[in-house]
Amino acid sequence: MIDFELSPEEQAILEQAHEDAVKLYRPIARYYDEHEHESPDEFIDTMWAKRGEGALFGLGVTAALRIEETCWGDAGLMLVSPGPGLGGAAVMATGTADQHKRFLTRFNEGEPKWGAMAMTEPSCGSDTAAIQTTAVQDGNEWVLNGEKIFVTWGKRAVEQAGIVIVWATVDKSAGRAGMKSFVVECGTPGMKVEKLEHKLGIKASDTATVVFEDCRIPFENILGSPEVRKLDKTKTEGFKKAMATFDATRPIVAAMALGVGRAALDFVKETLEKDGIEIRYGLPRNKLTSIERDVMDMEANYKAAKMLMMRATWMMSQLLPNSIESSMAKAKAGLAVTKITQKAVELMGPLGYSRKYLLEKWMRDGKINDLFEGTGQINMLVVARRVLGFSRDQLK
Ligand SMILES: Cc1cc2nc3c(=O)[nH]c(=O)nc-3n(C[C@H](O)[C@H](O)[C@H](O)COP(=O)(O)OP(=O)(O)OC[C@H]3O[C@@H](n4cnc5c(N)ncnc54)[C@H](O)[C@@H]3O)c2cc1C
Repeated sequence: MIDFELSPEEQAILEQAHEDAVKLYRPIARYYDEHEHESPDEFIDTMWAKRGEGALFGLGVTAALRIEETCWGDAGLMLVSPGPGLGGAAVMATGTADQHKRFLTRFNEGEPKWGAMAMTEPSCGSDTAAIQTTAVQDGNEWVLNGEKIFVTWGKRAVEQAGIVIVWATVDKSAGRAGMKSFVVECGTPGMKVEKLEHKLGIKASDTATVVFEDCRIPFENILGSPEVRKLDKTKTEGFKKAMATFDATRPIVAAMALGVGRAALDFVKETLEKDGIEIRYGLPRNKLTSIERDVMDMEANYKAAKMLMMRATWMMSQLLPNSIESSMAKAKAGLAVTKITQKAVELMGPLGYSRKYLLEKWMRDGKINDLFEGTGQINMLVVARRVLGFSRDQLK
């Protein structure tokens, strides 16, 4: 049975996370929005010191709710906070027990501090199977060559203290079956940051182009088997591992979206309350004002997305297959945050457009959740295929 009731300990973790969001995230959110590429070193040190409070680690409902809380504070800053991140989730989803020990437990010990995941390339995004980056075995090493773009945590993981999970093909002629992922550690010769992106939102987050030129890594740094195997007509092992990674990361992105959406929703409700405008719950819809209907729609969207996120996350924590649930949660939450923040700006009028408040920033920040870890359209496609029982080739 699914039970989302939180224990007193879990409740305390979330209360602490909310306090951090109020005291540590919100006060510096605008500054780092306006000073893109400036590093919030003091904030990072503080968050690193807090890792023992469950701030950064773990999968499951409480960890996801914690992420929601920190993104209520600021999503960009959450994306520079040290932790295993998307790279860590990839190791968790696809690595062996030994690799978990080698790459994940070290996060508790001091280094690495950031885990990035590099899948996207100039000619490969939604179509993950079009990967051009190559991994060639040479003795007891792999040699990586290629270019990865839009890597979140890229600069920190490559240049400061981190790991980058790199998707590459070991055999282009094998198509999806040739896709494999590799762990590249910070400081490995041949891996370098080429540039940082200037973005619409989440500007505190370092989004980097990372280039691999004859980058040599130990043979054991491949996640999963080096063999190129087709499992059946439609699935291949390498591709399946990529999708297993997304099953772990999509609910996390849904939680991020919820945090930004709730920030905007809270702002609207507090402003209306200050103006003496009451939301009269329980009245028939035809008796409600348009503002009341709008706020209730925003809340319904937020709550539906939250239920989906919690279910997908809970299933992940129970090691149950959750592909459809994680795509549903991600698609719904990405859309919900986009709609909620846009509606909030609309309802608040000039207050929503002014840089005096963070609301306009949340509209810019929220949109990313409808883009990375599979766009809204791609996640809808995944859900549609599963519901209708179509293969990738039957429904494109
Ligand atoms: C700030 C930021 C951070 C990111 N971080 C990371 C990261 O850490 N690691 C990483 O690997 N990538 C990252 N990405 C990349 C992101 O995951 C990709 O941009 C995304 O998957 C879309 O791929 P694409 O850019 O190639 O767009 P495209 O695939 O070219 O898509 C363009 C548009 O076409 C639509 N589309 C494509 N195919 C279909 C279809 N079959 N049916 C319907 N519509 C379709 C898409 O939904 C989208 O609207 C990041 C991107 C951004 C902006």
